[in-house]
Amino acid sequence: MPKEKPELSEAMRKKMGGKTFVKNPILGTKFTIAISSAKGGVGKSTFATNIALALKKTGCKVGLLDADIYGPSIPKMFDINEKPQSDGKSLSPITKYDIQCMSIGFLADQQTPMMWRGPMVTSAIKTFTQKVLWKDLDFIIVDMPPGTGDIHLSLVQSIPLTGAIVVSTPQPIALADARKGVNMFLMESINVPVLGIIENMAYFTPEDMPNKKYYIFGKEGAKELAEQMNIELLAEIPIVQSVREAADAGRPAILQIDSPIAKSFLTLAKNVVAMIDKRNTKIKPTQAVKTTHSRGCSN
Ligand code: ADP
Repeated sequence: MPKEKPELSEAMRKKMGGKTFVKNPILGTKFTIAISSAKGGVGKSTFATNIALALKKTGCKVGLLDADIYGPSIPKMFDINEKPQSDGKSLSPITKYDIQCMSIGFLADQQTPMMWRGPMVTSAIKTFTQKVLWKDLDFIIVDMPPGTGDIHLSLVQSIPLTGAIVVSTPQPIALADARKGVNMFLMESINVPVLGIIENMAYFTPEDMPNKKYYIFGKEGAKELAEQMNIELLAEIPIVQSVREAADAGRPAILQIDSPIAKSFLTLAKNVVAMIDKRNTKIKPTQAVKTTHSRGCSN
């Protein structure tokens, strides 16, 4: 258990205060993991796409739900330009790199800013969690929007999450938000296990100086935060030019099979699967878990 009590703003506390929520599991998956960052631009979507593919490489069947309603990244990061099929009642996910994907960006014009009011956000989240025909998945990775606002609340209140992974850079301004993000998941009325923290952009190593590390955003800030909050530090991911280039090219870095970054994502994915296996007895399972879970992924 964390050493600290969650500290959240008065407004957030009021929104959450004393309420209990009926949560409906996303059908078609055993486990649902939220990738959250609280602060934008720290590499959350990059991490979500790579960990989804890494989990697939371990033999799991994986879906990727881009819940960043205001700034969807998955269409670009997976280079998807088609629209999902619909029978008027439900939407079929688009499969790319063997991952089932859904994003508001598949439905809206990429050039148009999303200016949605609260109820529209809630209804979009409902559509994405209840009306998408996810099929036989072990994991759905949810790329959360940055912040701890309405979309977060709609999501964490409406679906049972197996766990959350919080991504941060080591920079103090990002860490302050990461702390808020962790605290939100740990609130009594939300109660989502935080599987760990990822320190992204932890350092930079120039190609011609393989033993040198430049701590551009500060040194080990997320590691310290993890220690303070008694949460596992899952990985320290360096700044790597090819990670950025791969994201922009719509082919996430892990697809470059022999690269060191691909290997570290694969190790991380194996750890996440092991963690879920180990913790699953303690985690309140989704309905899907209750009926279909066996140890590890299905193949
Ligand atoms: P967020 O989802 O938190 O807003 P993104 O995943 O969109 O952040 O990442 C922000 C930018 O940083 C993108 O241009 C992405 O390619 C780049 N980026 C993320 N992680 C790394 C990394 N480890 N090394 C290099 N570039 C990265």
